[in-house]
Amino acid sequence: MARSGTKPGKGVYSCSKCGTTQSLKTAASTLKRCPQCGSTLFRKTSAPAAA
Ligand SMILES: [Zn+2]
Repeated sequence: MARSGTKPGKGVYSCSKCGTTQSLKTAASTLKRCPQCGSTLFRKTSAPAAA
């Protein structure tokens, strides 16, 4: 699991509660809180966004 406010690395993360996805484009990107439900927990998805 990844938490908002951290920099878990490049990739696509989905909210653990509602499934809203958020993509981090660089390793320096900070994961933000879910805009839909405000959850701070995300899991990394195995499917990367289309390049
Ligand atoms: Zn959510």
